[in-house]
Amino acid sequence: HASERFDLTALLRSAITWVAKAQMPDLTVVFDLPDTLEVAGHSGHLHQVAMNLVQNAIDAMAGAAVKRLELQGREAAGTVTVTIRDTGHGIPDAILGRVFDPFFTTKPVGKGTGLGLSISYQLARDHGGELAVANHPDGGALFTLTLPAAGQRE
Ligand code: ADP
Ligand code: MG
Repeated sequence: HASERFDLTALLRSAITWVAKAQMPDLTVVFDLPDTLEVAGHSGHLHQVAMNLVQNAIDAMAGAAVKRLELQGREAAGTVTVTIRDTGHGIPDAILGRVFDPFFTTKPVGKGTGLGLSISYQLARDHGGELAVANHPDGGALFTLTLPAAGQRE
C-alpha cells in the first residue's frame, strides 16, 4: 500500500454513486467536482473515508422527505477541499463536539460502532489534512475534508 498520486474526483464519483444508489434508490446525488483533483496518499484509505461519510449521510436521511447528497470539490492554493452535505436530521449542537470520538454513536447496537468518524479523522490527519463537521444553515450535516494537493506533500 505505497503512497501514490490519484484522482479524488474519479474516486468520489465511482464509489459514491455505486454505494449510495444501491442503498437508497430515491437518493439524488449532486456532484460539483472539477474534472480532476490530484492528491497524494493511500487511495484505499481515502476511499474508506468517503464511504464512512456517505454511509452516515444515508443513515441520517432514512426518514427524510428530501434525500439529497451534495459533493463539492475545489482546489485552491495547494489545498483540495471536499464538502459532503446531506438533507438528513443533522447533528444536535450538544454532540457536535463528540462525533469524532472513538465509539461515540447515537445508533442502536449493531447498527453503528462509533468508529467511522474517528478513523476518518485520523486518516485525514495521516494525509496531512483535516476533517471538520458542521450543520448546514438549511439543515442536514456538512462535512469538510481538506487534503494537500498532489505535489504539496513531501
Ligand atoms: P456510527 O456511524 O457507527 O454511529 P460514526 O463515527 O460514523 O459512527 O458517527 C458518529 C455519530 O455521529 C453518529 O452515530 C451520528 O450520531 C453522528 N453523525 C455522523 N454523521 C452524521 C450525519 N451525516 N448526519 C447526522 N448525524 C451524523
Ligand atoms: Mg458511521
